[in-house]
Amino acid sequence: MNIGKIIIVIGVSGVGKTTIAQNLGKQLGLPFIDADDFHPMQNIKKMESGSPLNDDDRKPWLEKINVALNEYKSTTGVVLACSALKESYRKLLGKDLGSAIHWVVLSGSFELIKNRMESRNHFMPSDLLKSQFDTWEEPDYGMKVDVSHSPEVIVDFVNEKINMKGKAEIGLIGLGVMGKSLSRNIAGKGFAISVFNRHVDGQEVDVAKLFAAEHEEMNPELAFDDLSAFVESLAAPKTVFLMVNAGAAVDAVIEGLCEHLSDGDVIIDGGNSHFKDTERRFHALKEKGIQFIGTGVSGGEEGALKGPSIMPGGSSQAFDSVGPILKAIAAKDSAGTDCCAFIGKGGSGHFVKMVHNGIEYAEMQLIAEVYAVLRYGMSKTPAEISAIFSDWMKTDVTSYLLEITADILQKKEGEKYLIDLILDKAGNKGTGSWTTIAACELGVAIPTMTAALFARYQSSQLDMRLKASEIYASANVDIAFDLGKLKAAYQMARIVNHHQGYDLIATASEHYGWDINYDDLSRIWTNGCIIRSRLMEAISKAKLEQGNILMNPKLNAEVLVSRGALNDLSAVLSKTNISAPCMLSALSYLNGYVEKRSLAHIIQAQRDYFGAHTYERVDAPRGEKFHTNWLS
Ligand code: NDP
Repeated sequence: MNIGKIIIVIGVSGVGKTTIAQNLGKQLGLPFIDADDFHPMQNIKKMESGSPLNDDDRKPWLEKINVALNEYKSTTGVVLACSALKESYRKLLGKDLGSAIHWVVLSGSFELIKNRMESRNHFMPSDLLKSQFDTWEEPDYGMKVDVSHSPEVIVDFVNEKINMKGKAEIGLIGLGVMGKSLSRNIAGKGFAISVFNRHVDGQEVDVAKLFAAEHEEMNPELAFDDLSAFVESLAAPKTVFLMVNAGAAVDAVIEGLCEHLSDGDVIIDGGNSHFKDTERRFHALKEKGIQFIGTGVSGGEEGALKGPSIMPGGSSQAFDSVGPILKAIAAKDSAGTDCCAFIGKGGSGHFVKMVHNGIEYAEMQLIAEVYAVLRYGMSKTPAEISAIFSDWMKTDVTSYLLEITADILQKKEGEKYLIDLILDKAGNKGTGSWTTIAACELGVAIPTMTAALFARYQSSQLDMRLKASEIYASANVDIAFDLGKLKAAYQMARIVNHHQGYDLIATASEHYGWDINYDDLSRIWTNGCIIRSRLMEAISKAKLEQGNILMNPKLNAEVLVSRGALNDLSAVLSKTNISAPCMLSALSYLNGYVEKRSLAHIIQAQRDYFGAHTYERVDAPRGEKFHTNWLS
């Protein structure tokens, strides 16, 4: 079926919608329509009587325009001029138009529009124009056009962009869980996107075509299983977003793509690739003239569709060109800013995503340990624990992970809690272990994250655990522990966990010369991603010095208050059979972090004793080495 182009030119009064839309219509050979001509009689009467229209009045008017646009969609296409100041109006206008629609968003400063209107003797009281600007909710999608240029320049610009249509602005390879959601998100924001999934005889057949046909926002003409046709469908410079499994698949896809790409084209790897692979690919592709971005994407399937947190690193030049798309599809922080910011050179984007996942592992384990205290130490039911977590969600400890756990604990199958039917063997896909390995390579202590990883490994030794429990386990000891204190201890351990993650990032940033901006990083982790939380919001407002959380005056006040709670919890835990490696390691880490005299003098003496490794002395200049013949 032929799909006519629906071009909707929007913006405040006086911005030049009618002129631009009429000229565009002429150049593209499309009819022009003006939204004002669609007002029903009662609206016209109301306006004539001097009363402003409200949103209830506008609804039937916008619906009437939408009906007309849908008719044009199946015939010639059309150019419409309509202010469409609010997102809710645009939703009504764009209903069922899918990929046929092209938004042209005209914008200019208040002074510019006011002066223009006055020079055209088109008087509009300042407060009326101001109210237009106040109402204007600028979309984060569509073709943005600065009206300080002449109408001819603007029309040529828009015309060129629209004629480029048929060609896509971005292509995505890999229509798995994440790729499908991200493509729909990109298309839903008004970007023309081509999608590709490989063909595997008898297994993967017409995946892209079937997916595009299923979703209104996708364009079936831009769905491929032939790589060369897919690349051909992209406008230059060609930008390809990979959402395939990390590892060999990424290399294989890049190798295939390189045969079709040329100088200046861009590849973005959005999977969970190892940052060292990203560094390698960045340099190898640079030699071929292809710009490479390795980006972390967090938020799971739903986040990818509705707005993930996006952490791009690599070519800043490529980010300049593709940034508007990545920002448009990202989640928004509490101030409405995109949860997407350029992280730094090389593999920095994938490095911070890896650490994000490391922090996530410990956040999950800490919740599990609190659950263990409540369930096995204090004999609460899952529903009672869910209620406690729901209470906590009203406070500073709230997080996405706590919210989902409160939900999980309510879920029943018949009389049984589903949580009791789930096998206690945790999986992992690698990013947690990479975080620990990276920390070892860089010499950074992250015991809380590592404890969470090792807890997963230990859980997977299920048969051995069952046998051992018969020999060693004794009955659980009932404990009484104040819920407020438990919450404080939990928050304390979380702060320590986040501190360790940031310490690792700061060390890597210095080591690799990435120059990471911690305020930006924390801000983009306040929404869209799995570790979003009120604590992350506090971290993002705290202005970290060199990524340090525990020394930050805005954050360490809570540590000073809550440290005792973690001490008390640890004391109580030692009387039970509950395994709580993250809680205990957080306390131990904190004790190690703040102690004036560590235990390392004993270690150094032992090293010198058996291996003549030498030691430094407290009563000699730093750097001077001593050795003792301990046996003499
Ligand atoms: P899926 O397994 O659902 O999808 C993987 C996609 O990659 C499929 O379309 C698959 O094609 C394609 N693919 C695999 N190997 C090849 C190859 N050799 N050539 C071409 N295409 C290939 O994975 P996800 O969507 O869950 O994850 C994708 C990436 O995103 C991973 O790196 C993952 O770690 C990361 N990620 C996942 C998140 C999640 O919540 N799922 C969250 C954040 C990141 P086919 O269908 O033909 O097999």
